[in-house]
Amino acid sequence: MGLKIYIDGKYYQKEDAKVSVFDHGLLYGDGVFEGIRTYDGLIFKLKEHIDRLYQSAHAIMLEIPMAKDEMVEAVKKTLRENEMKDAYIRLIVTRGIGDLGLDPRKCSKPTVIIITDKIKLYSQEFCEKGLEIVTISTQRNIHESVNPQIKSLNYLNNILAKVEAINAGVEEAIMLNSEGYVAECTGDNIFMVKGDALYTPPIHSGVLRGITRGAVIDIAHLKEIPIHEEVLTRYDLFNADEMFLTGTAAEIIPVIKMDRRKIGDGKPGKMTAKLITEFHKLTKVDGVRF
Ligand code: PMP
Repeated sequence: MGLKIYIDGKYYQKEDAKVSVFDHGLLYGDGVFEGIRTYDGLIFKLKEHIDRLYQSAHAIMLEIPMAKDEMVEAVKKTLRENEMKDAYIRLIVTRGIGDLGLDPRKCSKPTVIIITDKIKLYSQEFCEKGLEIVTISTQRNIHESVNPQIKSLNYLNNILAKVEAINAGVEEAIMLNSEGYVAECTGDNIFMVKGDALYTPPIHSGVLRGITRGAVIDIAHLKEIPIHEEVLTRYDLFNADEMFLTGTAAEIIPVIKMDRRKIGDGKPGKMTAKLITEFHKLTKVDGVRF
């Protein structure tokens, strides 16, 4: 029995799960999405992901044709249909089928897609030994364009940044904002440790309000680790004691080298290890059963 994919209330086998070539999600990247994870039968931070999806949609004036609780039920049902306990969920809402023009008014009904897939992780080696990253020249979007808080289907800017990372022989890259301050990586938020405190760029530096970022901030508050949302430069990062990235797929992943500079002693740090342990504890309890 193959993977069943939800499209507009019906289930399709993977080979048959298709959208129209007139869907504006395909034609223009006009739509929004979420990446969510389940741990041993618990959906992690489901409410936060659903809220962010609806906020992204609201920002682009896309009215999702179902209430939030119906969306939650559809996600749970798709996981049950596929009998998956540990999954990566991709929730997509496109503008829907229109004509070849840009006008979203021509799209009468948004398309809702739910894919539950296996999780593809950074290799064990990266998790244990840490990542090397570089700063690249593609800037993070400015607020006046596609606001970085909108998790839109138009990820070309991030893909360009990822291409630069790959060209430099690494897996991730730091994107700066138009003022030259550190924003985030192509698909992850960034943190540094200096002394006994944690630092991460504020939302206004041009970052996605990452849900894993939020979980790390919550853990810091709980464990009384000072946490500062502060504008950061590359200089600050070069001189950090530890560095790590956060994201739904990556979870918390240590960074040991940036732009050829060793970070701290060049090994994943103690604070990072402590946060990884606390994060894993959280995933075991902080979830919605399906
Ligand atoms: N920044 C960007 C640009 C992202 O696409 C993502 C999600 N992959 C993140 C940060 C991390 O966000 P979250 O913790 O909500 O997955």
